[in-house]
Amino acid sequence: MDPKSLLRPNIRDLAPYSTARDEYQGELGVYLDANENPYDNGYNRYPDPRQTELKQLLSRIKGVPAANIFIGNGSDEPIDLAYRLFCEPGVHNAVSIAPTYGMYKVAAAINNVAFREVQLGPDFALDPDAILAAADADSRLLFLCSPNNPTGNLLAAAGIERLVREFPGIVVLDEAYIDFAGAPSFTARLTEFPNLIVLQTLSKAWGMAGLRLGLAFAGEEIVETLSRVKYPYNINVVTQKLVAEQLAQPVDAEVEEIVSQRGMVIRDLQKLPVVRHVYPSDANFVLARFDDPRAVYDRLVAGGVIVRDRSRIKGCEGCLRITIGTPDENMAMLEILSTL
Ligand code: PMP
Repeated sequence: MDPKSLLRPNIRDLAPYSTARDEYQGELGVYLDANENPYDNGYNRYPDPRQTELKQLLSRIKGVPAANIFIGNGSDEPIDLAYRLFCEPGVHNAVSIAPTYGMYKVAAAINNVAFREVQLGPDFALDPDAILAAADADSRLLFLCSPNNPTGNLLAAAGIERLVREFPGIVVLDEAYIDFAGAPSFTARLTEFPNLIVLQTLSKAWGMAGLRLGLAFAGEEIVETLSRVKYPYNINVVTQKLVAEQLAQPVDAEVEEIVSQRGMVIRDLQKLPVVRHVYPSDANFVLARFDDPRAVYDRLVAGGVIVRDRSRIKGCEGCLRITIGTPDENMAMLEILSTL
């Protein structure tokens, strides 16, 4: 499949804005080209619109060539851009698993794109037949999330692979939580699948949610088109600088601790009378089911512990999503639940 043939014609033919920094990229000049304030305060110059240094760093860490990396203002940016690249508003549709991360649906609504949700099977397993049955010739995007939010489970790799091969459009595979899972990323297989976009983020394992940096890995043509459509200076100077510094600090020990705490939290939750069921998790949160989730939520809040109430989402009835915190934070949560 040639992903270029799926681009909206206006995007395929777009003449992008050319920034001052696109036209001249040398160092040590007298910069009178961008109408900036010339007095140096650390922020007076525009950022690199191509994020060249950051992409080289990320390329080494992720083992993906820089030409296959798009950097966005959080992963929410490439989610929205995927609609703008591939879906003609009011004409094309997107398919997604359910329950899953809410932004795929919101971005579809913002872009006036019909959104078809296919419920996951028992134990939140991927159902490739149902997904393919929901797709038609106007289906341009399929959103998968593995490990999935809010269910916490990895989707079966064989099912993902089949969908990438058989879905008639672009498959966006969101791996926001992949660092907590004992499974390889699909980024290693980009050359096999020209219609695959893999999303990752620095907001979870890497501890940089406040800096807003999301990654889309894809074939060069998709990455190049995402770059033409994005706001020219989408990643600010401070984020580019602090992310580069922070990437030098390994997070393996923190991730290991979170994964070990996850096991402890699941075991302890399972022992509590108020807990009906705890779902297995490959992410940094667990989904637990209660008879009266709202009452449990309120008791947690009264004790100063905030979790996410997912109990009104189809497929998650009765469930609260609990992020794995520090050992002390997890203990505080478990202590409140043990009194119920
Ligand atoms: N994808 C998933 C599955 C998520 O759960 C989240 C955040 N909750 C995001 C993407 C958004 O990440 P970012 O902070 O990079 O926008």
